[in-house]
Amino acid sequence: MAKEKSAIFIIFGGSGDLAHRKLYPSLFRLYKSKVLKDHFAVIGTARRPWSDDYFRETVITSLEDYFDDDKEIMEEFAKHFFYQSHDVNDSEHYIALKNLAGKLDDQFEAGHNRVYYMAIAPRFFGTVAEHINSEGLKTKDGYNRLVIEKPFGRDLDSACELNGNISKAFPEDDIYRIDHYLGKEMVQDIPNIRANNPKLEQALNNKYVSNIQVTLAESIGVEDRGGYYETAGVLRDMIQNHVMQIIGAIASDDPKAKEAKVIHKNKCDLFASLKELSPEEVDTEFVRGQYDTDKTGEKKAYRQEDNVAEDSNIETFVAGKIEFNTDRWSGVPFYVRSGKRMPDKSSRIDIVLNDKVKELGIRPNSVVTLLIEKEDGNSILINGLNYKDAGQDFIEFPEEAEFDNAREAYESLIIDILSGNRVHFTLWDELRSTWKYIDTIRERWDSQTPEFPNYISGTMGPDAAEMLLERDGNSWIWD
Ligand code: NAD
Repeated sequence: MAKEKSAIFIIFGGSGDLAHRKLYPSLFRLYKSKVLKDHFAVIGTARRPWSDDYFRETVITSLEDYFDDDKEIMEEFAKHFFYQSHDVNDSEHYIALKNLAGKLDDQFEAGHNRVYYMAIAPRFFGTVAEHINSEGLKTKDGYNRLVIEKPFGRDLDSACELNGNISKAFPEDDIYRIDHYLGKEMVQDIPNIRANNPKLEQALNNKYVSNIQVTLAESIGVEDRGGYYETAGVLRDMIQNHVMQIIGAIASDDPKAKEAKVIHKNKCDLFASLKELSPEEVDTEFVRGQYDTDKTGEKKAYRQEDNVAEDSNIETFVAGKIEFNTDRWSGVPFYVRSGKRMPDKSSRIDIVLNDKVKELGIRPNSVVTLLIEKEDGNSILINGLNYKDAGQDFIEFPEEAEFDNAREAYESLIIDILSGNRVHFTLWDELRSTWKYIDTIRERWDSQTPEFPNYISGTMGPDAAEMLLERDGNSWIWD
């Protein structure tokens, strides 16, 4: 268990959805486990003129999942919360914020540490970072860490611009770019699984792997986030970040590496070797889809959702084939897929081995499945069976690697931020490579008009997603 931490959190967007659904419950769990105890305070900022008391009430409301717990603990926790109304463009407000943070630092003895958390619309990230710097909010004696939520840009140019703005104000080592998939227990443990299983690690290359499949499927539609989705689409919302980072965990070199710098370098090298697509290859290697109503006609089609254009061409499904130009991986297809209104929720990696693995003592054509969210109590499957029952001895775990999903992704990431551990955050160089790759697809798609909608809600997406693999003599494992 992590030791008690001290810091003043300044949450920009403290009245928003992310803060209430994810950040406050995670901070509360850290309070209950005493990682946060006496030496912390949280300043929530937003435009509305709220009092501290009102803000504390909203924070307590966000903890409804814990209402069975001692109400007193919740109230003690809420006493660490303070509110400051704030307009991102107003310099005076930053000075008020600086003074409040200084006062709370004295009161709570927070060690002059500051966490600046951008839970605000991405268009404000650069402005806020610059003001933090120019208005002198940063302390001299403690750390000053900037936490940036996704999306980090909407293409390479806008990501470069954003990065330019924030890096004028914060050195790269103090920037924590969140990809919450990197906070998930299974994703964090992939390097351990690889490092502890020499046979599996020996098999992870183009001699023994037929293909690797990454699926992030949701059964729900866009719900009340149609407005946001219209500016994003699955390619930007899931593939550029979460899917790529999962591939980074499974395919980077040297899973035994412990140092953030080495781990990041290996991931950067992998992404720098993404095999670029020509515009014509986008047509053959990537498939996009948009959901229609379901078989009964009860569910809304994407184009009928609130805040979605009637003729929207935003994709709610993507499948594609990604390849890398490295000695280790060249020739191995990484099939990726993410979509809404699929039959079930599932986040998984299927490693499909070929028949040569026999020489490593592994049953030919075995499939190793890593379930990012536990399904039916399972985290790892071999040929569809719980690995312990599969009768193969090449998956071993140290006891501590048994997955209990005890810790929420955000909880784990906040501990990392407070500990100065950047392993589970994304580096600018990684984003540059992945945006460059994604931009080619986006530009091609934006130049053509798709025939949407093209899949029925509750199905596996458009038929072309199946054909993408059949063409190579492969098929989706999760089907
Ligand atoms: P939201 O619209 O619910 O909240 C936005 C917050 O910003 C509010 O507190 C609002 O008062 C404040 N704000 C808006 N304009 C302001 C201004 N001019 N000055 C000061 N404050 C202002 O948004 P959200 O869903 O909480 O998302 C916040 C960020 O987190 C976004 O970057 C989003 O992309 C990212 N994110 C959200 C989620 C999620 O589940 N909600 C998931 C991943 C990433």
